[in-house]
Amino acid sequence: MMDLADNVYNARLGRDEPKFKRWRSVGLILTYKCNCACEYCYYACDASKGGLMPVDMAIDTWQAVIRLAGEHARIHLTGGEPFLYWDHMVKILEAAQAKQLGPTDMIETNGFWAESDDVVRARLILLDKMGMQRLKISCDLYHQEYVDIELVRRLARVARDLLGPDRVLVRWQAYLDDPRDLSTLSAADIRQAEIEAAQAFPCRFNGRAACDLADALSTKTIEEIARFNCERAFLDARGVHVDPYGHVFSSTCSGIIVGNVSKQALDRIWANFHPKVYPMVSTLFRQGPAGLLQAARDQAYVPRNFYAGKCHLCSHIRQYFVDHTMCALVVGPPDSYATETPA
Ligand code: SF4
Ligand code: SF4
Repeated sequence: MMDLADNVYNARLGRDEPKFKRWRSVGLILTYKCNCACEYCYYACDASKGGLMPVDMAIDTWQAVIRLAGEHARIHLTGGEPFLYWDHMVKILEAAQAKQLGPTDMIETNGFWAESDDVVRARLILLDKMGMQRLKISCDLYHQEYVDIELVRRLARVARDLLGPDRVLVRWQAYLDDPRDLSTLSAADIRQAEIEAAQAFPCRFNGRAACDLADALSTKTIEEIARFNCERAFLDARGVHVDPYGHVFSSTCSGIIVGNVSKQALDRIWANFHPKVYPMVSTLFRQGPAGLLQAARDQAYVPRNFYAGKCHLCSHIRQYFVDHTMCALVVGPPDSYATETPA
C-alpha cells in the first residue's frame, strides 16, 4: 500500500492539513454502450455509445489499485451495461482469477438479460465461482422505462436464492416493491414522475442528468452556487471510475479526465495528481464551477439564469466545451456527454 506522502500534493502539506485520500475503489466502465438511455445517467450511456475496455487494461488497473490501496482495494464492474459483453466480462474475471487478484466487489446491471430462471442461474453460478461478491441491480422509474420490471423481479429473486440476500442490492428496493405502471402514463405524466423521483432520491447532475431533468429542477442562481468550491470533492474521493478508453474520473465527477491508464498506471496517476496544479481541476478545487465561467464566456457561452446545483453548472459548461471541441485533454470523452446540447 502506498503512503499518503507518496502523493505530490500531500508531500508538502503540514501535519494537520487535509490530505488527498488514497483511491481504493475503482469502477471499471467496461463500455458506454447500454440498452437503456436513462434520463439521469451520469455517463449519458445509450445504444449509440461505444467502447470496450481491453482485458489487459482492466487487469493492469486492478493490479495498480492493489499496489495503491493494498487490502482496501475494491474493484467493481459497471457500464454502460456490462452484460451486453458477457463473454468479454468473463474473460476479464478469468484473467483476474489467473493472476489471483482477489474477489470482484460488485457487478452492476439493469437486468435486461434475465429472460429465464435458467439463464440467470447459469450466469450467477459462474460469476459466483469467479469471485463476484455482490450483484447490484438498478431499479427505478428511469430504468423501467426501458427494462420490463418482471425481468428485474426475476433477477432479484433468483440472485437472492442463489447468493443470499446480503449479496444482492436492488437500487431501489422500494421501487421494486411498488413500481409505477408506466404503460398507463402519458409522456407528461412520466416527465412529472421523473421529476418527483429526482426530488425524492437526489442525484448528481452529470452526463444526461444535466439535461432535461436538471432543467426542470433549476432554481439556484450562479451567485448562490459560487459559494461552493470542489476542494473536498477531490480530496475526499476514495474512488475513481476508469472508462473503456482508459480515462480516469474522480469519484462521480464523470467527464473530467484526471489521467489515462493507457499512458500511466493508476497508482502513478494518483501519486502525481496535484489538485491545485492540474488543469481545470485547480480552478474547480479553489472556486468551484463558477470559476470556469469567465473562460466559457470568452468562448461565447451564455449562462442560464438558474441551475439545479453546482454539478449542473459544471456539466453545462463542460458540455459546451465538448460541443465546441475545447479543453479536450481534461473534458471528455464525447461518449460520456449528451449528444444533444441542453439549452
Ligand atoms: S443509468 Fe445505467 S442502465 Fe441507465 S443508461 Fe446509464 S448505464 Fe444504462
Ligand atoms: S461541480 Fe464538477 S468538479 Fe465539482 S463535484 Fe460537481 S461534477 Fe465534480
